[in-house]
Amino acid sequence: MRWNANCLALAAMVFAGCTTLGPGTADRLYVFAVGECHTTDLANWSAADAGKPWVFANHCYLIRHGTDLLLWDTGFSDELAKGGRDLGSLQIRVEHPLAEQLEALGVRPDDVTHLALSHLHLDHAGNANLFPNATLYLQRREHEAGFGPQPQRFGFDPATYGKLRDSKTVLLDGDHDVFGDGSVVILSTPGHTPGHQSLLVRLRTTGAVVLSGDIAHLRSNWQYRRTPASNFDREQSVRSMARIQAVLERERALLVIHHDRGQSLTLPKAPGFLK
Ligand SMILES: [Zn+2]
Ligand SMILES: [Zn+2]
Repeated sequence: MRWNANCLALAAMVFAGCTTLGPGTADRLYVFAVGECHTTDLANWSAADAGKPWVFANHCYLIRHGTDLLLWDTGFSDELAKGGRDLGSLQIRVEHPLAEQLEALGVRPDDVTHLALSHLHLDHAGNANLFPNATLYLQRREHEAGFGPQPQRFGFDPATYGKLRDSKTVLLDGDHDVFGDGSVVILSTPGHTPGHQSLLVRLRTTGAVVLSGDIAHLRSNWQYRRTPASNFDREQSVRSMARIQAVLERERALLVIHHDRGQSLTLPKAPGFLK
């Protein structure tokens, strides 16, 4: 066992007579609403909902753990605040740029010590280039796809994350306990992309929360295990859903569906936070 800050904290608790050691907890979870995506036809996300218009929310999450700050996903590029982007049947709008929301909390991009991305699609990695000095956590397969010869094949745009090429990077081949105390655990959930991942966050009052990236875009897709036709691997996607379901049951955790506007309305937004 390496003798580090976590061991010291553990030893202090043992000497203090604490005999029921459970996993640690993060201090705060901030939710940022960072834009919307309006579509005239849900067919690309769910064949069962073809023809329906829909509005997807988009989010980023900042976790405070002691003096460390971990950012989970980075939203659309803040550049899109200047007029959005019109992709025909898809309209992207950004009203509250991420950098401005961080600044309102007194956080500069360089204060973010850890950056973890559920995957490299532009609605999750849009502002990644703001954080080249954070330690990056990506699954090896996502990193290889994103920095390999054909990122476009996976729907990635390196213009949004290219500055992370030389970042200090922790390449993952599965799950990873970020702070070594069980408070923030990256869960490997491939399928939507080759190295898609989710995040389990344990909080003292709220309990466990799973930030699920694009494991499901719609609550109904989650419920009926539907996947978008464009997913990298459908069978993997469904296995990852089953895996997250088991985590939810084991942890009695709240599943946060990243793009669910209805659920988003129920969550406190920064500067408020979950704790
Ligand atoms: Zn995606
Ligand atoms: Zn997404």
